[in-house]
Amino acid sequence: ADRPENINSILSKHLDTHADKKAIVTEGHALSYKQLDKDSTAMAAYLQKNCNVEKGDRVATLIGNRHHFPIVLFACMKIGAIMVPINVKLSADEVEYILAHSDIKVIISEDRYFHKIAELRQHTEKIIPPDDHLFIIDGTNSFEKLLTHDYPLTKVQVDELDPAFILYTSGTTGRPKGAVLTHINIIHSLINYQVTFQTHQDMKTLIAVPMFHVTGLVGQLLHLIYVGGTVYSMERYQNRKYIDYILEYKINFLFNVPTIFIMMSTEDKFLNNQFDFVTKVAFGGSPIYQETFSMLKKAFPNAQLHNAYGATETTSPATLMPVNYHESKVTSVGLAVPVADIKIVREDGMNCKPGEAGEMQIKGPMVVKEYWRNPEANTRNFTDGYWHSGDIGYMDEDGFFYIKDRKKDMINRGGEKIFSIEVEDVLKSHELIDEAAVVGVPDEVFGERVKAFIVGSSINEAYIEEIKHYCHSQLAKYKVPEVFEIIEELPRNSSGKILKNSLKESGGNGYVKRNVK
Ligand code: ATP
Repeated sequence: ADRPENINSILSKHLDTHADKKAIVTEGHALSYKQLDKDSTAMAAYLQKNCNVEKGDRVATLIGNRHHFPIVLFACMKIGAIMVPINVKLSADEVEYILAHSDIKVIISEDRYFHKIAELRQHTEKIIPPDDHLFIIDGTNSFEKLLTHDYPLTKVQVDELDPAFILYTSGTTGRPKGAVLTHINIIHSLINYQVTFQTHQDMKTLIAVPMFHVTGLVGQLLHLIYVGGTVYSMERYQNRKYIDYILEYKINFLFNVPTIFIMMSTEDKFLNNQFDFVTKVAFGGSPIYQETFSMLKKAFPNAQLHNAYGATETTSPATLMPVNYHESKVTSVGLAVPVADIKIVREDGMNCKPGEAGEMQIKGPMVVKEYWRNPEANTRNFTDGYWHSGDIGYMDEDGFFYIKDRKKDMINRGGEKIFSIEVEDVLKSHELIDEAAVVGVPDEVFGERVKAFIVGSSINEAYIEEIKHYCHSQLAKYKVPEVFEIIEELPRNSSGKILKNSLKESGGNGYVKRNVK
């Protein structure tokens, strides 16, 4: 097959062969390939004509897993606009940074998230586009006017090196960084998925993870459109409904963070039903427990299991477990994707030998070239095109990779990444807190949970609720520490660095525990 020249062509290539097949089925709505193309073309024309959106302009969304998301996506792709899908869970303050940093021309938001924009408009009017560049889904119905008009689309030449998305990820400086994903980055990842997983047009997936993160976006939504399959999606993950839909639609390809599989496995309906029609089960975004892996093997007897390791910066997969290997390489995240070059680098900068662990550094045409308008982060995170993953892993004699640990100070809560510094900065800005350190503590379902150690001469447990409340006002809910521990001082090494490992190992789940050293 021809390599698609840009993301728009992964949709248009199906119009001759199966235009009427369902591309997207969301709760209460279905779009055929033809309809998806028609709606996104209409939206593209409206954005060109009425909002003057030109190639390279940024269009932000605050949309969950609804059919509006792929319509906006392909509308942007048709006119070379860069889509900035914002995590709907972020607080208004967090959204503000992204809108300002990416200099947004248009915002398309679900009604239920629009209050974040409205709030920002009151105190930072400058960064919010004018009213006729804001579109709200439901509520005022302003979304509909994007689709119902007679404006023709003016064709725009979209090249493979043009940026398609900016996905903001948290970072070690406390401010999110915008990974710039180009059309060709995405196309390489789609080919990597399709070739390694051997997916085809009979595949049906049910998306439970958000489409605004890279796994839902590339690994499922775009991947299934690329192969000509059907994407089912749920607005909000609910265990029982998820299982019902799998059974009802005979979903044959599942791709989730391990947390979702763990939650699913607690339902009787899951235990009492046969899922022999499922042929592919992929998981990634966070480490998987051995028990979860065994559970998947039992529950999906006819499925190939695929561990998928990657990141936003690698446009999703950097390594994938190929077919027919999961039995022999149970704990591995698989082989490097065909186009990747992965080095394992020691502390002293030398390359590791097989079996020796070091930082995974990843290069290839699916790796982003840069963070949006952030030269300092670009210098820090890339060397000669290799992206520094911050993950510690090794490669075995057969070329299979294993993730052992993490160098970056990040917490992985069921696939949602939280950089400790973001939470520590908020805690330290509280008047009662002198010092704070945040670590991940083990959790059966989420893998890790956020725990905060705080220091302050007048703090006692009576203040914890208020501190939590304070965190909620500034941070997305999933980032707010679930466990607090008040200590007298933070353990540090001789050069003053906080010893996070010693905090993690100190155990204890209570609110008040003095002296961790
Ligand atoms: P998503 O954001 O859609 O969950 P993602 O996890 O691939 O996708 P990021 O949010 O950028 O992308 O997070 C990347 C980090 O997640 C990696 O650097 C690694 O720490 C962790 N990670 C991803 N996949 C795996 C995996 N299969 N096993 C262990 N850790 C993983």
